[in-house]
Amino acid sequence: MRIDPNKCVACGNCTYVCPMGAIYVDPATNRSTVDRDECVECFSCYNGLSQEHLNPTLVRTLRGILKLFRIRFDPEPDVCPTAAFQPEDLTWPRVVRRAFSDPRVPHESTGVEGRGTEEVKTNDVSGRVKVGEVGFTIEFGRPGVGVRFRDINKMTVALAAAGVEFEKKNPITTLLKDKATGEIRDDILNEKIMSAIVEIKVAIDRCEEVVRLVWRVEKEVDTVVVLGVGVRCDPNGEDAIVLPVLKKLGYDPQRAKTNIGLGRITNPDAAETPHETLNAR
Ligand code: SF4
Ligand code: SF4
Repeated sequence: MRIDPNKCVACGNCTYVCPMGAIYVDPATNRSTVDRDECVECFSCYNGLSQEHLNPTLVRTLRGILKLFRIRFDPEPDVCPTAAFQPEDLTWPRVVRRAFSDPRVPHESTGVEGRGTEEVKTNDVSGRVKVGEVGFTIEFGRPGVGVRFRDINKMTVALAAAGVEFEKKNPITTLLKDKATGEIRDDILNEKIMSAIVEIKVAIDRCEEVVRLVWRVEKEVDTVVVLGVGVRCDPNGEDAIVLPVLKKLGYDPQRAKTNIGLGRITNPDAAETPHETLNAR
């Protein structure tokens, strides 16, 4: 995202809508400016503010005159008075920023909007996690924090070394240059995005090992990491395997979501037992 300095009147409205704090009024030029290294191309500024088309020179003059009388002339807070935003026609690799940050843009790899994955929340119809397996969602970044792919890369490399299985229909998986090593392609490592989710699964007896691996690597990354766990229930709708492991590790897991199998099966391999997503955050 760019801001046209010839149009901006430095009202500051956009600085409040940027979830990454990437817009600032430059005191040297008295114009709002986008820190392009921090901007994740979420388009919140462009889509979140109404665009008026006032004449910038007129607005600046009016603001200057009124300032002499200690009167402020500010536009409504949800408006860019001079339509100063200049959305760019993004090319590779910068285009990945928008794909992972603007919830209205679908991922090319999955067709799913936002972070581009349905996660294991739809496991009752997709059958991603089977009986005897445990699925993990490892989430990186948040509004205000974000994440760079080089930090996600630290986790995917460590997970690959542990021999986990990456979810094929996950957009991060499509960006791995080598699934065996877990390395993310070099040309996007410095790109910053709002958030992303890595999805993996392992045999159910490896649950503790994976949690401890995530604990170790998250200390090396410059963002927040949230762990979600998905597992099949037993025929009684309970889980007597993963839950005790998570409790032993100090979590107090809550059932974030329980799918009871009313959905239309999209994968014939989906088993019939219910599926439970534990919130182990
Ligand atoms: S809202 Fe528009 S005019 Fe106001 S500071 Fe931002 S870009 Fe400039
Ligand atoms: S596109 Fe998003 S991150 Fe970039 S300046 Fe606008 S609101 Fe901030």
